[in-house]
Amino acid sequence: MQKIIITIDGFSSCGKSTLAKQLARELNYVFIDSGAMYRAITLYFLRNHVDWYNKEQVSKALEEIDLDFHYNEKTNESHMYLNEENVEQLIRDMLVSENVSEVSTIKEVREFAVAQQQKLGLRKGIVMDGRDIGTTVFPNAELKIFVTADPTVRVERRFKELYDKNPNITIEEVRNNLEMRDYIDSNREVSPLRKANDAIVLDNSDLTREQQLKTALKWAKERMIAHAN
Ligand code: C5P
Repeated sequence: MQKIIITIDGFSSCGKSTLAKQLARELNYVFIDSGAMYRAITLYFLRNHVDWYNKEQVSKALEEIDLDFHYNEKTNESHMYLNEENVEQLIRDMLVSENVSEVSTIKEVREFAVAQQQKLGLRKGIVMDGRDIGTTVFPNAELKIFVTADPTVRVERRFKELYDKNPNITIEEVRNNLEMRDYIDSNREVSPLRKANDAIVLDNSDLTREQQLKTALKWAKERMIAHAN
């Protein structure tokens, strides 16, 4: 069947990555977590005390950054590597979450990440999740999904996820972080978070993972058939 590009965008903690991973597995596609790239860049900036409002420092730092995804067939998971170090866990840290949206407003950072994301899509057969994938990275993608979920549901989901790793975390901290990221992501100058005009909305507040996958798979198959001709 014809390989296509599937983009999944939406606010923070809407279950985009979960859906993207499931879809990629079912279709035997490559899953790419674009947020992990912005997180890895943020981790590098924090570790190396890069002032991200200083253009020169940012450009110099970006030259030093090598990003790569390593796929582990045994666990069926893809891990983010920053300069050959596995940073998959570290980039989920609260300190990174607190700074990533600010770093993601920087034009040079976005250009750097978008260029790499577009390269990864050259061979098609990918599912990429993020904020601007359907609008900026792959405006011609065959299937664009915009995921939404009730804010309370999103906070609870993220809290459960983070609590397992850090029992000191509070629900307020999680809520504040999600609200702050959504606000910055939607209001930045360069490719803000928007639903692409041709994206289909998937509200998963009351859907199980299986139900959401079934719906998205149906759309994917329809698009594959439509683009086979
Ligand atoms: O997807 P995730 O929540 O891990 O993304 C972390 C942050 O990276 C987002 O809050 C957003 O600021 C930024 N991001 C972005 N564009 C993308 C993906 C993520 O600006 N395509």
